[in-house]
Amino acid sequence: MKKVCKDCKQEKDISEFGVSKGKKRNICKKCHNAKVIEARDLRLRGLRKCRGCHEIKPISKYNKKNMHVCQECLAKKAQKRLEKKQARERNEMQKDKKNIDTIYEKMINHKETLGLSTYPDPEIKDSYYKINWDGEYKRGTRISEGKVIAKTDSFLVLESRKGIRECILINDLKLGEVELKEVSI
Ligand SMILES: [Zn+2]
Ligand SMILES: [Zn+2]
Repeated sequence: MKKVCKDCKQEKDISEFGVSKGKKRNICKKCHNAKVIEARDLRLRGLRKCRGCHEIKPISKYNKKNMHVCQECLAKKAQKRLEKKQARERNEMQKDKKNIDTIYEKMINHKETLGLSTYPDPEIKDSYYKINWDGEYKRGTRISEGKVIAKTDSFLVLESRKGIRECILINDLKLGEVELKEVSI
């Protein structure tokens, strides 16, 4: 049986490959020995070859817990992991937002079928409003008030005279879940 060495790229008989942890190495005995000698030689000079960037660096550039990869490579790896995690989280958030939007879209487009009344698209001015939370598909009555202090396409924030803030979704207004009544102060 033959096997190609990952290091010298030569096809050699399987007997030319050593065993490590019960498995045949992917580099031949000759290449392995050369590596062992090189590593020992470097060690004697206080150096070590990084398995990540393949650069020869002083031992001080390595972490005691992981001597195979230099600190710089470790930091790069950590950064990549973080970026991946952030991308994953962004993705999840976008998915969630899409789900919420889809639910609202269905409710808004099928109000009659769902037994909900229709409301005109809300026209929001930078005024003071009385907020009626006694919505169509939720129970319980709560009335608060506030001035519009922030407004986006999907929500608005109102602040009461006491400084209490309420966030209202535009879609909730469209569904009549929340009602705003302009009041003078
Ligand atoms: Zn080889
Ligand atoms: Zn490195």
